[in-house]
Amino acid sequence: MTAFPAGTILGYPRIGRRRELKRAVEAHWAGTTDEATLERTATELRRTTRERLAGLGLGRDDSSIPESFSYYDQVLDAAATVGALPERFAALRDQDGGIGLRALFTAARGEGENAPLEMTKWFDTNYHYLVPEIGQETVFALSSDRLARQVAEAKADGFTVRPVVVGPVTLLALAKATDAAPAGFSPLSRLEDLLPVYAELLASLRAAGADWVQLDEPALVSESLESTPAELAVAAERAYAVLGAAADRPAILVAAGYAQLSPEAWRALAAAPIEAIALDLTRGGVPERVDGLAGKTLVGGTVDGRNIWRGDLDAAWQKLERLGGLGAAAIAAGTSTSLQHVPHDVADEPGLDPRLASWLAFADQKTAQVVTLAAGLRDGRAAIEGEVAAASAALADRLSAPGVRDGAVRARAAALTEADFGRGDYADRVAAQETALDLPVLPTTTIGSFPQTGEIRRARAGHGRGEIDAAAYQQFLRDEIARVIDLQEDLGLDVLVHGEAERNDMVQYFAENLDGFAVTANGWVQSYGSRATRPSILWGDVSRPAPITVDWSSFAQSLTDKPVKGMLTGPVTILAWSFVRDDQPLAETANQVGLALRDEIADLEAAGIGIIQVDEPALRELLPLKQSDQPAYLDWSVRSFRLATAGAADATQVHTHLCYSEFAVVIDAIAALDADVTSIEAARSRGEVIGDIATSGFTHGVGPGVYDIHSPRVPSVDEVAGLLDRAVAELPLRQVWVNPDCGLKTRGYDETVDSLRNLVDATRLIREKT
Ligand code: GLN
Ligand code: ZN
Repeated sequence: MTAFPAGTILGYPRIGRRRELKRAVEAHWAGTTDEATLERTATELRRTTRERLAGLGLGRDDSSIPESFSYYDQVLDAAATVGALPERFAALRDQDGGIGLRALFTAARGEGENAPLEMTKWFDTNYHYLVPEIGQETVFALSSDRLARQVAEAKADGFTVRPVVVGPVTLLALAKATDAAPAGFSPLSRLEDLLPVYAELLASLRAAGADWVQLDEPALVSESLESTPAELAVAAERAYAVLGAAADRPAILVAAGYAQLSPEAWRALAAAPIEAIALDLTRGGVPERVDGLAGKTLVGGTVDGRNIWRGDLDAAWQKLERLGGLGAAAIAAGTSTSLQHVPHDVADEPGLDPRLASWLAFADQKTAQVVTLAAGLRDGRAAIEGEVAAASAALADRLSAPGVRDGAVRARAAALTEADFGRGDYADRVAAQETALDLPVLPTTTIGSFPQTGEIRRARAGHGRGEIDAAAYQQFLRDEIARVIDLQEDLGLDVLVHGEAERNDMVQYFAENLDGFAVTANGWVQSYGSRATRPSILWGDVSRPAPITVDWSSFAQSLTDKPVKGMLTGPVTILAWSFVRDDQPLAETANQVGLALRDEIADLEAAGIGIIQVDEPALRELLPLKQSDQPAYLDWSVRSFRLATAGAADATQVHTHLCYSEFAVVIDAIAALDADVTSIEAARSRGEVIGDIATSGFTHGVGPGVYDIHSPRVPSVDEVAGLLDRAVAELPLRQVWVNPDCGLKTRGYDETVDSLRNLVDATRLIREKT
């Protein structure tokens, strides 16, 4: 076996520095390019990535460069590789049963009556993976040689890469049971049948030239999955006993990022016949000494794969030293997770203030940091003293820079009292809102955004480049708002929205209008599939220099007699989808954002807006993976939302929107938000969440989404009516709202209009029946 390199990254962004993969994939979906063209672009992208990583100092032939490319999602890739695609996509397989791009993309996006795989958050990140469906009937068989071909492709270019695959335990732990599976079935029960296919995969990777393979097992850090840490550890013990004993395999690195390995899993992996274990040392300490480490390499994930701060190399070094004390055969430096969660390169941000830029590290800078730490491990700490000192100096500079602390912001936060965090009695609010709003039963609404057409994006870009002046851009947006209001009146929706055409992104828009934030030009991070977001950088104390949304909302309201919802993004989501300062507790930062939003709500109310939605789609995603960390998180996150909204009058209806259907997990927190109406994703899980809401005792208004906006598929009237039937059967009629799963910005107008028409028609049907 070849030794593990002294430094590595656990994965690299896949979308390309200029989102080349997005463009290529979307062109292919649109039918303008064939598969071969797409494959060529992807090959080029992988080649560029390898050359770049080698240029940054990772070795060409020592397996330090990961092969972590994916066309869409690594969980989908793993499921497809082992043949675990649901029956409804069987017809799309190749003649020999292989799963090619067409089947892969269809499983991701759906087609006709075939709904796509469900999508959900990858651990506590803003990345979304596709949820495999696995049942008793699932036949596991090696069904794709894509990864082996990528290894061979790299080999041909002179690279020995380390292929990265989601490991068998995590694949099963993240899967859901197929509809055909018996009640209580757990996909993890299929481990024994799955392992031979992984063994076959490993052999094929070895044959293609891989010396090492990386199996990602973040399930082993989580306390938030259906299987308990103890069950997962037992599964890991079994899985790696079998894979370790497999013939003709590469050396195995099991990587467990995102939090600290459970003690059980740590013991299981240490004892397993594998060659290396990667630990996340940014979200958990160095684990305790256990048996079995003597022959293994421990990869210390000390360079944070999830934030963009340059970090503290001295602290990283000390952690590596402590890791070295555990008795392993070797220590290597690494990132805590894949770098897929950070943008490519700070050098692509010439517009950032140079002082701020000097505090940052994106994927390329983090790779360089790993290379530095690796050099230290090889040549001694003295060899890297200069780099370590420079990182420490940047950190000290950040902590003392102007704007990082703003006296007025701090004084206001310090003066808050408990009364600032609570609204009036819910019953009084219901009465006041009934009088003020006079809505029908089953009120229909949307989540906020309407399709962001090419025209809107072009106008925004033109305005950004100075080609369209402020007045013309303003007029363009007003015309757009007027069009969207007209459309909603035609469709017969009850609560209208202005459509959010002025917003590039629901967080960046606020970041651009609040002090304490910076925005990037090319800092894209994959959110799911071909979608990427550009998280803002929250580096200083937050305040609102002027009203942000009031003009747009009041203009929209002036065009209609129906209520128009004001539309804000909540503090938790603003934090979750930004890269946030790490020099103070998140709770403090969240309250600063909450106060800025509170002022915005007061201004919206004063401008005559009677319904205000404060989106918190990220509330669930930030939930810590460790149960012991969850109460503190839920406390500050809920409080920041309440701080933002508690200034609203009783007659003002506060809505919130959450982008997932795992309602049961955070029900107490959702209830504690005390929003008058909560809209939530439900369609993709076919309304499963409705049962959870009903049994939870949740009393406020709730809109379980009746159609999935992640897919271009138009739901039929029957389908929507079916979900509504279920909702009104299980929930009191007065509680139920009718809305799509999420905003419509990623959709086209054709499907949007058809879908909303069906939504309104279905609502009429159900209203007549009740
Ligand atoms: N109001 C936002 C929109 O409609 C909500 C988006 C979201 O939940 N991610 O686009
Ligand atoms: Zn949403």
